[in-house]
Amino acid sequence: MIKGIKVMLKPNDKQKTKLLESAGVSRFAYNWTLNRQQENYKNGGKFIFNEDLRKEFTKLKQIEEYNWLNNYSNNITKQAIKDACDAYIKFFKGKSSFPRFKSRKKSKPSFYVDTDKIQFNETHVKLEKLTINKKKNKQKFNWIRLCERDRFPNGEDIRYINPRVTFDGINWWISVSIEYPDNKDMPTNEGIGIDLGIEKLAVTSEDISYKNINKTKKVKSLEKKKKRLQRKVSNKYEKGREGNRYKKTKNIIKLENKLKKLNQMLTNIRHNYSHQITTQIIKRKPSFIVVEDLNVVGMMKNKHLSKSIGEQRFNEFYRQLKYKSEWNNIKFIVADKFFPSSKMCNICGNVKKDLRLSDRKYICDSCHLVLDRDYNASLNLKNYGKEIA
Ligand SMILES: [Zn+2]
Repeated sequence: MIKGIKVMLKPNDKQKTKLLESAGVSRFAYNWTLNRQQENYKNGGKFIFNEDLRKEFTKLKQIEEYNWLNNYSNNITKQAIKDACDAYIKFFKGKSSFPRFKSRKKSKPSFYVDTDKIQFNETHVKLEKLTINKKKNKQKFNWIRLCERDRFPNGEDIRYINPRVTFDGINWWISVSIEYPDNKDMPTNEGIGIDLGIEKLAVTSEDISYKNINKTKKVKSLEKKKKRLQRKVSNKYEKGREGNRYKKTKNIIKLENKLKKLNQMLTNIRHNYSHQITTQIIKRKPSFIVVEDLNVVGMMKNKHLSKSIGEQRFNEFYRQLKYKSEWNNIKFIVADKFFPSSKMCNICGNVKKDLRLSDRKYICDSCHLVLDRDYNASLNLKNYGKEIA
């Protein structure tokens, strides 16, 4: 199954300039190709193949006059040449009219991004070679903010097809097609309700619970190490301070790199754990999955809990669960934010208004049910799904 996704970009002014330039490079290569084909045809030659023109173009870039082209991703020009050749082939086949040159004024600025080079995270897209500066802090410039959060799945298992950046006259957009593994299996097992929490990461309506990875020895000791390192760095800065100026010594750089590695390690551990759990749940082939609204999870936020909520990365957990559900034809349902999944009794429906966060057991005042609090919530979520699925 192939799905197209298009999201508006929020480039800063410098990035806007660079995007426009990139589109200009694309147009240049496109027009150059048409020109080469037409010239060649006039001189009695046959259609020149895309590969040959690309080689020719690479040579062109070595001439001083065209050196500026090297400041842009060669994937932009590669694709523009191919697009122009394809336009010819379509014309030959009678599928479209004679290919026309792209004018600066009339044509829509756009360019191609290489499928292997493009990257997404929740909030940004990374394009290739917006800056040619290889320094790490400069490399940030390659990341452009997306107007919508979390729209593009990412991960090693995802293939992006034909990513294009386009300008509609007002805004810049990124569009990508994504190939999902073709899957016609319709899961028929019972739906699953999932309650997220701090004590445990998740409890499902099958009464399966998943531990909070942040409470494991390994993560705890890494976190401790991280704190120690952070303290060390700030002490070193303080020691080397001259008035209001802080100096970055070699030693500090070394420590900061260590810290960076440690952070990466922690992120990987959490990320992989999340993948493990979401995959396990999906493998049970439920016909639907119900989770709480993330705002509700966020409402648990207070000074003590917000840090642990942040560490839990519920967003990431949802993201993975959502796209994996999609791939497997499982309905992914987010309960209405007013649905009292924690406060309701899953047997009689009585709502217990005074349930506190510290109450680990749900005790129903009406039917006297006594049940683990999270398990009760997950059963409510499952019932919610049954009604609307
Ligand atoms: Zn009850």
